[in-house]
Parts: sequence; C-alpha cells; structure tokens
Amino acid sequence: MANIGYIQMVRHCNQNCGFCSNPETPWFHGEAEVRAIIDDFAQRDYFGVIFTGGEPTLTPILAASIAYARGRGLHTRMISNGQKLADRAYLHELEQAGLDHVHISVHSHNRALEDFLTGTPGSLAWAEAALDHLADSAIRVDVNVVINRYNADQLHETIAWFEARFPHVRHFIFNNLDPSIGRAHTNQYFTPTLRAMEYSLQLAMQRLSAAGRTFRVEKVPLCYMAGFEHCSTETRKIIKSEERIVHFLDEKGTVRQQLWGHHQAKVCEVCTLRAICAGLFDRGEAYDEAELTPVFVDPREVVQRVAADERSDPAWRRSQLRGAAGLVAAPAQSRAPATMPPPDGSRLVAPQHNAKRRRDPWQDWHPVTPTPTATTIAARSDSDDPLSPPPSPAVAGEGAL
Ligand code: SF4
Repeated sequence: MANIGYIQMVRHCNQNCGFCSNPETPWFHGEAEVRAIIDDFAQRDYFGVIFTGGEPTLTPILAASIAYARGRGLHTRMISNGQKLADRAYLHELEQAGLDHVHISVHSHNRALEDFLTGTPGSLAWAEAALDHLADSAIRVDVNVVINRYNADQLHETIAWFEARFPHVRHFIFNNLDPSIGRAHTNQYFTPTLRAMEYSLQLAMQRLSAAGRTFRVEKVPLCYMAGFEHCSTETRKIIKSEERIVHFLDEKGTVRQQLWGHHQAKVCEVCTLRAICAGLFDRGEAYDEAELTPVFVDPREVVQRVAADERSDPAWRRSQLRGAAGLVAAPAQSRAPATMPPPDGSRLVAPQHNAKRRRDPWQDWHPVTPTPTATTIAARSDSDDPLSPPPSPAVAGEGAL
C-alpha cells in the first residue's frame, strides 16, 4: 500500500482562494511536533509524507522537516501555490533538503480568472516561474486543479495550455471542490454541477490520455468519468485498501481515513460500479443526487486497469489488491472518518471559526490588472513575503474573458 501521511505545517497563506478547504487558523506545527509525526509515519511503514497547509512554504522549518523525513526514509512531497517557489534560491534550498515531489496548484490558464479564483492578482505568473524553475530541478512536479463553477467548462483548455507551455508536467490532479468546509462552504457560489464539468472533464481526460500523460480525479462520481474510472482517486484507494492520516490544524485534529465512500443514491443500487465508486460527495448538501446515472460497466475491468499501474506505484503490495468478485459484493462504506489523537497525545489550541464571506462572485469582480506586470509583482515583493520578480511570459492562445 502506498500510504502517504499529511502534515498541515501552517494554516495561513499568501493567497486567498475563494474555495479554500483549509482556510486560516492561528495554529502551526513546531519542529518537535513535526518530527514526532514523521516518526509516527515511519513506524507505520508509510511510503511518504505530504507537507501542506495553508501554504507550507510559509513556515521557516520546512527545509529542516523535509530533511528529517528523508532521513527517516520517507518520500517527501509538498502541495504549494508556487508563489515562494518563484524564488529559485528558495526552491534550490528545498531540493537540497531532499524534496522529491511538488504539486503546484493552478486552476486556470486564464490570468484574469486565476486572479479571481486565488484572490491574488498576478498569481499565475508566480506559478509559471515556479514551474519553469522546477523544470531545471530534480524535483518531480504535478499540477493540481480545483474544479469549480468558473473553470468547469474550461478544463480541457487549461490542459491544452499546460501541454504547450510546460511539457515537463506529466501528471495532473483534478480535485472537485468540497462544498462542506472552509471558504467553499461560506462561498457556495463556487460549487459546480456535475453536468457543468462533464463535457470539459471528459475532453481533458481524453487529451491527457492521448498525450501519454497521467491524471487523477477526486470527488467526482464514476458515472462522470466514463472510460477513465480507474483514474478516480477514491476508487483506487478502495481497490488498494489504502489509508491516510492527516494532521489538520483545526478542530478536526488528527484524522485516520480508511473508508473512502461518500453518498450513494437510489439509482446506485443497480449500478455495477457501486462497490468501487465513492458516490456523491455531498457533505455540504451542495451536490444533487438527481445528477447520478447508473452505469453497467464490468467492475473487474476497472480493477484490472488499476492493477496494471502497479509498476508505477513502487510502494503498493499487490497482495493487498482485493478480488474483483469480492468488490462487487462488498458492503457500502461508511462515510465517517475515524478520528485519533496525534502521536504525542495532545491537541493544540482552541479552533477559530473562519466565517469571512467574500461578497463578490465572478460576475461582479472587475480585475484592474488582467495581466500581471513586473511592477505589480515588484510591489508585492515589498510585503512580508519577499520574492524576486519572475518574468511574465507571453502566453499564446490564452482565452479572453
Ligand atoms: S450511479 Fe452511483 S454508484 Fe454508479 S457511478 Fe454513479 S455515483 Fe457511482
């Protein structure tokens, strides 16, 4: 099993995504706590650790934490908006510490839309600079795209742009937003319908597959992934019996997730994929089960396609793969993740509820600077988060809004 644990290093951020699932709290993990958590992952024979946040590059102990995890034999990974990685020297420091893998979050190739989604003018230019620097490093880079109402019909266009602009990016993660928590819960207007994303997501998956690239899709029911059901993150975890431990910096505390099912509707009872489908991610009651449609695909074909990826998944022990017949007969999964104390048995300080509401959805949002300029970035570099201004390369074929 390729179990990977998560550590939220901080919960503040240098960007302000309107759908952030882990918005700001005053908590952070100190070096001793991080070492205890990493020791716990190593003792559980986990494959690796993902440093996340908030924005993990905002903690001064990131490089030391990466080095410690590598010293314990763990694969080291980070999820970042890329803003600080636009500083080549900082990226080099993390590479020297032993960072193996980075996920850069970019939600649209359209600069004005990316500004809106991240709440941060110029955010795409920073991500581009980070991706350019990563191309010259030994660190593997994937791209995370959060599917939301405003990019749901443009996913394939964003993929086409990445193929042309960053051919070294070989893997993408489409993460349908979670409308039950964080700012997405407050700003429900970001929630897409499944129908709204179906066409563009299918084109994006076909395009990536044809180009020999790989991808995963999270929180999307299998009836919206025709032909690519084996690329569902939840389906793969169900088949491979994987778990994950997440050390949140909020009231959830430490969560050990071993069950991946969400909600299944009446129509799911006749669907042949029900045992390997996580169903509808409905915890925010923002998605509509009327959008689900049963399919009649042989689930063994999906299981076999997941098994065929074994060689690209070095930590997965084939013996853990369940038989397809057993999966078909498997009972429905509980939706409740188990909570558990952190390794040191303590909790941090009391949580703060983040109820800050953004008032202006896209239609009322008028960006002053659709294309970030060196001046814009230089001005921002005077803030608490100094950066070398990255270039703002011309982008061929960028769609106008
Ligand atoms: S109908 Fe239900 S079980 Fe079948 S693919 Fe859709 S969500 Fe999954």
